Amino acid sequence: MTPLEQLVRPNIWRLAPYSSARNEYSGRNARVFLDANENPYNAPFNRYPDPLQLEVKQRLSKVKGVSPEQIFLGNGSDEAIDLPYRCFCEPGKDNVVAIEPTYGMYKVCADINDVEYRPVLLDDHYQMEADRLLAACDDHTKIIWICSPNNPTGNSIDHDEMVKTIEQFHGIVIVDEAYIDFSAQKSLRTELNKYPNLIVLNTFSKAWGCAAIRLGMAFASKDIVDIFNKVKYPYNVNQLTQQQAIEALADPYEVDKWVRLLLQERSRMMEAFRMLPICQKVYPTDANFFLCKMTDAQQIYDYLVDRGIIVRNRTHVQLCGNCLRVTIGTKSENNELLAALRQY
Ligand SMILES: *Cc1c(COP(=O)(O)O)cnc(C)c1O
Repeated sequence: MTPLEQLVRPNIWRLAPYSSARNEYSGRNARVFLDANENPYNAPFNRYPDPLQLEVKQRLSKVKGVSPEQIFLGNGSDEAIDLPYRCFCEPGKDNVVAIEPTYGMYKVCADINDVEYRPVLLDDHYQMEADRLLAACDDHTKIIWICSPNNPTGNSIDHDEMVKTIEQFHGIVIVDEAYIDFSAQKSLRTELNKYPNLIVLNTFSKAWGCAAIRLGMAFASKDIVDIFNKVKYPYNVNQLTQQQAIEALADPYEVDKWVRLLLQERSRMMEAFRMLPICQKVYPTDANFFLCKMTDAQQIYDYLVDRGIIVRNRTHVQLCGNCLRVTIGTKSENNELLAALRQY
């Protein structure tokens, strides 16, 4: 790996972070807060939240098996996707490489940050080859994006190809594991200490059932987390979100229950789709959704919308012609979808 000092943009490396009022006394036994120009009334909403979310990180650390200083928390994964561009990529000069098809936000953030985005097509089984990703890189490639289980295809990316990419690439490899809780595969975050150039993304939006609170996680070396913390907005995760996360983390077994239920429903739905005359193929999945090739995705999509049922039309995505992406809902929601499709 290229030394971090050379990967990070020079202005970011030199950056002196904003020092908030709440940062400066830490560790002391504070009782009277007259430092931040807050209103003393209207507790608990009157106080600025912990800028580094230490209590959330301590609890998360136990659930995820990653030490608190290797955790970055952001306003959804969106923030953890945008920050690497701002920290590592010189606009108009650097580039990133990504598997294709994949989650759309990597490209949106590249475009916003004026960073060239180099997609590398997956094969017919939606698998990637490390050598093809590496061949797309040059001296200005700062980041390789991988998503596993991948969205919208649903499958996990081959572990050995991901490791080969991490080991052989000189820059940062980001593996987005938003759907890892639904997968039988081992998370790459357990190998974090082996790879200083690895960033693993997780989110509260999927298995944890908390999309509304906007809380995303990045697991990485302490050095990378420190850089993200320097660049992020000082109070990027609000107090209500931190409280709700602490509550959710107190009961991880509830999440396990949801996941088991959703995996059962996933098998049932995939089996039912295979029997539909309008369904030509159901792709293997490790996530809480599956991709399926239909006889006419656009018409079926429109038909479902007319009945108030929304799935994701992926027909215009590369390698996904005539494909719909179906999220697993409650049993009754799933039944509604099946009933509608059987009447098509
Ligand atoms: C849904 C999803 C996320 C979650 O994004 P949030 O901003 O945390 O809600 C991240 N990555 C992928 C690939 C996703 O599909």
